[in-house]
Amino acid sequence: MTKLTDIIRTQIGRSGPITVAEFMTQCLLHPDHGYYTTHQPLGSAGDFVTSPEISQMFGEMLGLCLAQTWMDQGAPKRFTLAELGPGRGTLMADILRTTKAVAGFHDAAEIIMIEASPQLRDVQMQTLDGYDVKWFDSVTELPELPLFLVANEFFDCLPIKQFIRTEHGWQEQMIGVKDNALGFILATSSPVALFGEAPLGTVMELCPGAAAIMADVARIVGANGGAALVLDYGDWQLAGDTFQAVRGHQKVDPLVECGASDLTAHVNFHALAIAAEPFAQVSGLTPQGVLLERLGITARAQALAAKLQGDALENHITAHRRLTHPDEMGQLFKTLAITPKGAAQPPGFDI
Ligand code: SAH
Repeated sequence: MTKLTDIIRTQIGRSGPITVAEFMTQCLLHPDHGYYTTHQPLGSAGDFVTSPEISQMFGEMLGLCLAQTWMDQGAPKRFTLAELGPGRGTLMADILRTTKAVAGFHDAAEIIMIEASPQLRDVQMQTLDGYDVKWFDSVTELPELPLFLVANEFFDCLPIKQFIRTEHGWQEQMIGVKDNALGFILATSSPVALFGEAPLGTVMELCPGAAAIMADVARIVGANGGAALVLDYGDWQLAGDTFQAVRGHQKVDPLVECGASDLTAHVNFHALAIAAEPFAQVSGLTPQGVLLERLGITARAQALAAKLQGDALENHITAHRRLTHPDEMGQLFKTLAITPKGAAQPPGFDI
């Protein structure tokens, strides 16, 4: 049993069962024993691999998309270039390398990284050595400037609440202690009538933090200009239990070895759109593979392939397929763009 499992068990013993959201927050961000505070999660030696870690082409396409949108909005002389949950800093490094050639873009950009993990901040600092970068804890600190923002696999690690339709109505899924181990239990009663009628056993998930963060970002984009590009696994409507733990590239039980695995839930893009719509314009939901193809990833892949051979060429072809093919990340991962009302849609996104 990890130290954190023991801490959570003791806490539940003292104050009663906790929600899935409280459990996720402790497991991911506990200052001493949280997953993101104690692990190097990303890469083949870590627990999972993300798109920017698969190929530089991912960041290149998004960098060009952001730079084109910046030009379409009149190339504002000062703007925020921000990333939510930047991991190892690879995506921002690729965006910056690609946009170096765009006249005026770097001079106008104030680079801001929003990162909760001190360990990952250190890695990002090394990756972005030579650039002037600020680190913030939260989107509430973002300045009132045009905001060009990316968030890849950020919203999926925000804490969710789960509700299950039982014969007593909707009951919240809680985590309690059974036989000395952590286990799922249902709250005895719940005031939630929110989800209406549904077959017994239906699970619904809510992510209050995601909606709040999306609304803050959309308000700044709507009032000052810019674009926010959100990329993640999930869909427009969600129903069902998507809470999962991944360790060493395998799914594991989320309730054992707390703090040793990455906990996520699929992103409900409709909920993000509802949070953004009062302030800004929301694109159509666009599969990642479609977006990257429209942005020109195949031409870029061919240009890079011309300089490669042997294993390097094989790996490059595999990476292109992983990012774009519908059987790999091309369809499971979705993308959404937030822009000011009436502005041109960023290139590649569905209307
Ligand atoms: N975007 C990166 C990393 C994805 S992993 C990539 O695509 O490779 C999730 C990232 O979000 C990590 O950097 C993690 O530390 C950060 N994170 C998780 N919860 C956060 C929170 N509440 N606030 C800020 N950053 C958070």
